[in-house]
Amino acid sequence: MSVQERTYIMVKPDGVQRGLVGKIITRFEERGYKLIALKLVQATPEHLEKHYADLSARPFFPGLIKYMASGPVVGMVWQGLDAVKTGRAILGTTNPLQSPIGTIRGDFCLATGRNICHGSDTVENAEKEITLWFPEGVAQWTSALETWVFENT
Ligand code: GDP
Ligand code: MG
Repeated sequence: MSVQERTYIMVKPDGVQRGLVGKIITRFEERGYKLIALKLVQATPEHLEKHYADLSARPFFPGLIKYMASGPVVGMVWQGLDAVKTGRAILGTTNPLQSPIGTIRGDFCLATGRNICHGSDTVENAEKEITLWFPEGVAQWTSALETWVFENT
């Protein structure tokens, strides 16, 4: 586990349309993660098929691609201790009805097919997703908070 660990977090089109971008960013900021990349993009179906390639055989795949291409998404990269697993914990479970209150999905949505946000599931997939969504690279900066969020920095 490293304080350099990075995860790809994305606000899906329903999260953008519902005006939840700021609230989702706030959850990661307040927890102590560092934002190192951020952009709003209208993704193409081809790009989204790459992002969700592992799910291509699932019956909901065509609907998932249509949903994800239906409007802009906000992609971001957050860095910090245990970013992938804790990032998923901040998002909650895939089915929002099973997601505890206090998680993003448990607080803001109801349907699996409209669950407002994405988070990488492994460190390896996070690095692949960061390359796919940010081929231009991410920012490198020292946060003034780091010495207060972590010990021994
Ligand atoms: P995640 O990692 O929690 O986002 O879940 P998965 O990687 O398993 O699935 C990716 C996304 O596909 C989910 O976030 C949902 O938006 C969608 N999805 C997954 N399972 C279903 C399903 O059974 N029905 C529908 N409509 N969408 C699903
Ligand atoms: Mg997933």
